[in-house]
Amino acid sequence: MNKANTKKLYESFPFLYGDHDKPMTQTLMCWGFEYGDGWFDLIFNLSKAIEQEAEKSGLTRSSDLWPRAEQVKEKFGTLRFYVANGSKPIYDLIAKAEAKSEHTCEECGLPGKTREGGWVHTTCQVCEELRNNKRG
Ligand SMILES: [Zn+2]
Repeated sequence: MNKANTKKLYESFPFLYGDHDKPMTQTLMCWGFEYGDGWFDLIFNLSKAIEQEAEKSGLTRSSDLWPRAEQVKEKFGTLRFYVANGSKPIYDLIAKAEAKSEHTCEECGLPGKTREGGWVHTTCQVCEELRNNKRG
């Protein structure tokens, strides 16, 4: 994910992503968001929903129990979102977003599909062709 989008997420959800500047020994968030920009909306909406859920349960942002993203990455073409201080409704939200990522192009955000191969990834037709041309 590019720097501008990464910054936007950190700034919009400073507590959810409060660990991003911690050293590697304490969090995997120091790696940032390890996927393309097509999933930005998906992550943004998920982050918002997680914070709304935490608010509903009566937590305050400065609480030690506020949800904290531990790692956000791509694995086998789908999103993986690991969070500390999660709850059942929060894990449900994450599962829904992860399922949606299977059909969302990670490059541009349009409907896509997961493609097998050396490196499993999820792209739409156009991005897939661009990728193959670049490689070819
Ligand atoms: Zn695409």
